[in-house]
Amino acid sequence: MRIGVLALQGDFAEHQIMLQSLGVDVVQVRLAEHLNQLDGLIIPGGESTTIGKLATDFNLMDPLRAFGQDHAIWGTCAGAIFLSKDALRKQPLLNLMDITVERNAFGRQIDSFETELKVPALQGFGQNGRGFHAVFIRAPLIEKVGEGVQILATLEDGRIVAARQGHFLATAFHPELTGDDRFHRYFLEMAKS
Ligand code: GLN
Repeated sequence: MRIGVLALQGDFAEHQIMLQSLGVDVVQVRLAEHLNQLDGLIIPGGESTTIGKLATDFNLMDPLRAFGQDHAIWGTCAGAIFLSKDALRKQPLLNLMDITVERNAFGRQIDSFETELKVPALQGFGQNGRGFHAVFIRAPLIEKVGEGVQILATLEDGRIVAARQGHFLATAFHPELTGDDRFHRYFLEMAKS
């Protein structure tokens, strides 16, 4: 199994460490040719405008879109924004996943928080199906999902924070910052099929 982490900006190193602990070969992706021979790609958290700008400067936009036609891609936080079709403002987006996101949806006062999420899709990934401890850092919300998009987790008030559309996965929070590798293993299953 070989997974790329988009390494333009943000917390790609934390994803790399988590993947390596699962025995996965990791490639840091900065150029189009780094996408060759990958089974999937993770786009990390960071700043989505910066990631989009650098991806444009590095001529990665079209290669990433082509890669997404038949490979698994997971965006965490800023990565989920970059993967989306609509961020309600103008910035470079991959336009791959049919979700609308609202950036910095939690405002200043609680711009970072942690909570336990119920994630039924993680049943079968161990830990007796207990809640997933989710870290939100100036996080987006998934405001709207298109047809065929499965909602994987919501906050208690119903707002969407994780979703899947075929081989695309979006989480508004950062599983790479906790010791819990269930989302990474869930993504590896997606990348295998
Ligand atoms: N606020 C950032 C953005 O809008 C995302 C923050 C994060 O990735 N932790 O791109």
